[in-house]
Amino acid sequence: MPGMAQGHALRDAAKLPPPSADIDCDIVIIGSGAAGLAAAWRLAKEGRRDFIVVEGPEPDGNAAGASMAGQACPTGAHYLPLPSMESRHVREMLQDVGVIVGDAYGRQPEFDERVLVHTPQERLLRAGKWYEDLLPDEVDAPAQRAEHQRFARTIEQLKSAVGSDGRRAFAIPVALSSQDAQWRMLDKLSFRDWLTREGYRSAALHWYANYACRDDYGAGYERISAYAGLHYFASRAGEARNAEPGAVLTWPDGLQSLVRALRARIGFAAGSRLDDRTAPRRMSGFAASVQLKGKGVEALIVQQEGGASRTLRIRARHAICAMPLHVAAHVVNDMPGFGFDAATHLPQSAPWMIANFLMRRFPEERAKSPLAWDNVIYAGKGLGYVVATHQLIRVARPEYTVFSAYDALSERSPQEMRRWLETATPTELLGRAAGDLSMAYEHLWPCVERVDITLRGHGMASPTPGYLSNKGLLALREVDGPLQFAHSDLSGYSVFEEAAWWGEVAARRLL
Ligand SMILES: Cc1cc2nc3c(=O)[nH]c(=O)nc-3n(C[C@H](O)[C@H](O)[C@H](O)COP(=O)(O)OP(=O)(O)OC[C@H]3O[C@@H](n4cnc5c(N)ncnc54)[C@H](O)[C@@H]3O)c2cc1C
Repeated sequence: MPGMAQGHALRDAAKLPPPSADIDCDIVIIGSGAAGLAAAWRLAKEGRRDFIVVEGPEPDGNAAGASMAGQACPTGAHYLPLPSMESRHVREMLQDVGVIVGDAYGRQPEFDERVLVHTPQERLLRAGKWYEDLLPDEVDAPAQRAEHQRFARTIEQLKSAVGSDGRRAFAIPVALSSQDAQWRMLDKLSFRDWLTREGYRSAALHWYANYACRDDYGAGYERISAYAGLHYFASRAGEARNAEPGAVLTWPDGLQSLVRALRARIGFAAGSRLDDRTAPRRMSGFAASVQLKGKGVEALIVQQEGGASRTLRIRARHAICAMPLHVAAHVVNDMPGFGFDAATHLPQSAPWMIANFLMRRFPEERAKSPLAWDNVIYAGKGLGYVVATHQLIRVARPEYTVFSAYDALSERSPQEMRRWLETATPTELLGRAAGDLSMAYEHLWPCVERVDITLRGHGMASPTPGYLSNKGLLALREVDGPLQFAHSDLSGYSVFEEAAWWGEVAARRLL
């Protein structure tokens, strides 16, 4: 469980050893997830060199990946939709790392073929049969079919809907969406209630909407804002010159490849010469305290090695706090002074389980249905599994593959599910992790060589009704001065584009 030991150590911050060294720098970025690295990338791109990234308990955060028997696989985020017109910051990044070829800002940029997900992109197992789409075209049930078509039409309209302020109703990043009350009022009810209000009865459509919320927001649609539920579908309007609408970008190890490419572009200094102020530096360790001091910021960083720990003091002119807010609430001095009261403003955070199954061979498919990149089970407790070697399979089937099974533990409250994670035995975790795969394959286990399970107790913020007007998040977005905040939590939900947006905003303020 990345970060759990360090998180609990923060509760004993008073017991920390006194600082053994002082480090001075212009900017310190605290946290190395997509937000922290996006800030570092922008600073480096604009010629800044004198900054340090404190990596925290998990370098790359939710964009981390792993390797099993030499096969890269994700342990968190695994795909990126085609970037929207508003996601200029992501387009620029993708161009910088070679994923967008040529002009990045047109309606249909050209993407590197190797990262555009190959067909079949997805399939759904329902009543023992695989279907090509997650929302099957119900040919035998005309009433349901009509509802699905009505839903699809509504989403198409919402994709181009514009508010009275001239902005798209549902944009990514969400901060660039229209402020028009016509759309914002959808934040008052749950997505389930919206579907019911609009007369949608189809069980398959309700399953699909619920699945989408669990998949992107870590919670069922009865707990997710209708605005967010619609935003999931309507904001993804990115197009590509060389791919179908709805295509996504993926890598064997998910977004780890993307953040690794960003790191290379940042150009971190090799070795650990933290006093070399002529190159971007990164350091291990986690912040135990961050406070405004004089005209700048002072951060105490704890490094642990072999049971011993030491504390370093960083003194910076500016800091970008790129940690999750539930951590910042413990670490940053006087959060209420920034307008954020943890007791009322912390977004609900969803626990996740990612289980990587190292497969020594490919299991036999029902009715020879071709394995897709994303494979979803209609009645499954989990969210299905993605195939790490999908982009390679066209060439020749590799010897090994990894199936990554995703599960947002959302059937009970996040607190209850976190308690379950803390007390579950390895056998219980494995049983849950294998649930969907066992439904897909009759003879799963002879193909499995090893299973690695990653638990993310506070995986992501869930956009519950009212999240758009969360005063604490709105206040932190505006904090400008020696200390800035940058994390996907500021959006109230968690995707790469949002994390990168807040990194971009914070870095731009310093430039
Ligand atoms: C299971 C899962 C799957 C996901 N899949 C996708 C996907 O496919 N596509 C997508 O776009 N998004 C996905 N997401 C959302 C993902 O969270 C975002 O894409 C993005 O990676 C979040 O980046 P971040 O920087 O906001 O936060 P995080 O990834 O949470 O990074 C936080 C950083 O803060 C550091 N930190 C923590 N405590 C401290 C401390 N005390 N001191 C210093 N540093 C600290 C951590 O080490 C980490 O580096 C997924 C999330 C989860 C949980």
